[in-house]
Amino acid sequence: MAAIISDIEIARAATKKPIFEIGAKLGIPSEQLVPYGHDKAKISAEFIAAQEGKKDGKLILVTAINPTPAGEGKTTTTVGLGDGLNRIGKKAIVCIREASLGPCFGVKGGAAGGGYAQVVPMEDINLHFTGDFHAITSAHNLLAAMIDNHIYWGNEENIDLRRVTWRRVMDMNDRALRSMVSSLGGVSNGFPRQNGFDITVASEVMAILCLATDLRDLERRLGDIIIGYRFDKTPVYARDLKADGAMAVLLKDAMQPNLVQTLENNPAFVHGGPFANIAHGCNSVIATKTALKLGEYVVTEAGFGADLGAEKFFDIKCRKAGLKPNAAVIVATVRALKMNGGVKKDDLGAENVQALVRGCSNLGRHIANVRRFGVPVVVAINHFTSDTDAEIAAVKDFVARHGAEAILCRHWAEGSEGIEDLAYKVVELAESGQAKFEPLYGDDLPLLEKIEIVASKIYYAGEVTADKAVRDQLAAWEEQGYGKLPVCMAKTQYSFSTDPNLRGAPEGHIVSVREVRLSAGAGFVVVITGEIMTMPGLPKSPSAERIYLNDQGYIEGLF
Ligand code: ADP
Ligand code: MG
Repeated sequence: MAAIISDIEIARAATKKPIFEIGAKLGIPSEQLVPYGHDKAKISAEFIAAQEGKKDGKLILVTAINPTPAGEGKTTTTVGLGDGLNRIGKKAIVCIREASLGPCFGVKGGAAGGGYAQVVPMEDINLHFTGDFHAITSAHNLLAAMIDNHIYWGNEENIDLRRVTWRRVMDMNDRALRSMVSSLGGVSNGFPRQNGFDITVASEVMAILCLATDLRDLERRLGDIIIGYRFDKTPVYARDLKADGAMAVLLKDAMQPNLVQTLENNPAFVHGGPFANIAHGCNSVIATKTALKLGEYVVTEAGFGADLGAEKFFDIKCRKAGLKPNAAVIVATVRALKMNGGVKKDDLGAENVQALVRGCSNLGRHIANVRRFGVPVVVAINHFTSDTDAEIAAVKDFVARHGAEAILCRHWAEGSEGIEDLAYKVVELAESGQAKFEPLYGDDLPLLEKIEIVASKIYYAGEVTADKAVRDQLAAWEEQGYGKLPVCMAKTQYSFSTDPNLRGAPEGHIVSVREVRLSAGAGFVVVITGEIMTMPGLPKSPSAERIYLNDQGYIEGLF
């Protein structure tokens, strides 16, 4: 067997085309691209506005079964499928999220795909890229500074210091900043209060940027952010502090989608990166909508497994943006199916058809769930070298019995050539006109009922429990006019239940709602069902210790 080449080595060997050539493939004139170096560009707001009224291409969602801790290759498959569709003669665009810088220095690899299905320049995309996350950090922290400044200068709005909910953000894994006291040091430094930092991707500003349709909508949503409460418990909005205009100014460029290319020189939009738990976990609406105007096919990815990612893609992003997906690909790997069948992480390399078949219950349920939204499904088996023929045959059999098809895909090892069959199948499904997309629940139902519907229909839970305080909070928001918002579920990605160890297809479990948070600017109610970490830490031996510049000036150790 040939030596395994790392993602970064493959990415570095790519023959990139100048970004204007990639834009030209989509009919974007060079003066409507704002270049960031030679291989990245933003698309101008003017060009995007001029696409209004043009016909949309087909929208394909890539989602997955409940994953192993390493991820199942959703991004890799999204990129591979984009290349595969281009290979069979379709004009296809990949739409994925931007990577968070902080986690690249922890345990996680990059977020630009893998093997021969990647977007480049991989190093830039994983680090500073075009500065979008830095802009979001600045906009978020400007609001934070204005809150403390407002209080310092007399607190005209009567903000209750104990009830300020707006924290600060930074794109770094730094547990030391999770919880702190700010404004220490005497009278001239303001009023000490309990405070803390979240990672930038967890900022509501990130979710807002990803859901806003244009700069005006962005500014309106920024104004709608609730930063905390007054002594009389009424909400204080960012608009009350007159922060919305300046925040929008800081985000003006970040709002424009970034164009890059795949290893095979096909166009990819990499834009926005909201957390998949306390936010909706999909790339930006503006990138997806623009891509739909420019391509025949748009392939996009949603975070985590389909119980979280696809549900939020459908119920939040598609509902809010009026998107109508035409087909969905569920990525499954033999190793994750075995894990769902009870095999331990260290034993995943050995053939185990019995455990695999047990774990297929997880896949079966995701197939049924996605169909519930009226979207036709195909399963992509993302091939790993350790997979055996018997295991692959067992997955295909199982999926056939569920009235769908499972297709073996070798894009990681072979690029577009290895994923042609899936590309043809996706075209067949999308052209069939089978898709009749409907969100899972209506806007007008009470918030608690929305939670119960997701819990029973998607998680197969027996019951939802919530304290009186949670129920009262939901009722109060309905009273204040937030009742029509969708719910954004925060749950472990490893199980249909709230217990990460309950693999496969559990049913009848209890979903207990610990806390609810209102993201009034983003436009959803976050429903927290477990421990949620909004500021990650670094492991004992972080990747940062192995990342360096080599003698040629190239980055090593980012994988
Ligand atoms: P996800 O988007 O589901 O989190 P990614 O596509 O980012 O997953 O892939 C996670 C990691 O797994 C990446 O490092 C990628 O290179 C690797 N990977 C993906 N597919 C394969 C495969 N078929 N064989 C080996 N490694 C793979
Ligand atoms: Mg991914």
